[in-house]
Amino acid sequence: MAAKEYICKRTFIGRIPHGSDLLNSLTEFVREKRIKLGRLQMIGAVEKAVAGLYDSEAEKYENFVFDKPMEVLSLIGNVSLKDGQPFIHAHITLGDEKGQSFGGHLMEGTIVFAAEFIIEEFEGEDLERIFDKTTGLALWDI
Ligand code: ZN
Repeated sequence: MAAKEYICKRTFIGRIPHGSDLLNSLTEFVREKRIKLGRLQMIGAVEKAVAGLYDSEAEKYENFVFDKPMEVLSLIGNVSLKDGQPFIHAHITLGDEKGQSFGGHLMEGTIVFAAEFIIEEFEGEDLERIFDKTTGLALWDI
């Protein structure tokens, strides 16, 4: 295992406007606030959602489109640096009208109905994502 130690700094609690793209809104927020490292959580509802599954053979994401209103039962993620810019990696769990759950890696195209988020910022050494040959992913340089 590899890890670095950080101190909690600022905490932001907020709402994302109705009709916004969820991932783009979160990315804009962390860039505007210069949050280079942190964690996030969000609950609420979406009008539609796009989530992905990483295909390790093809080394790319396969997207699922959920083209209907769903609850966001849970969204968790982190903020770190990629190409020198704050970058969000988040996973979303969605619930439908039968109480069934679906989800995956949060993608652009997920439209907010209502969203309440909490972002905690950490202070310490920068944490940058770098290309990892084994997985084909941009992983933390720890
Ligand atoms: Zn992911």
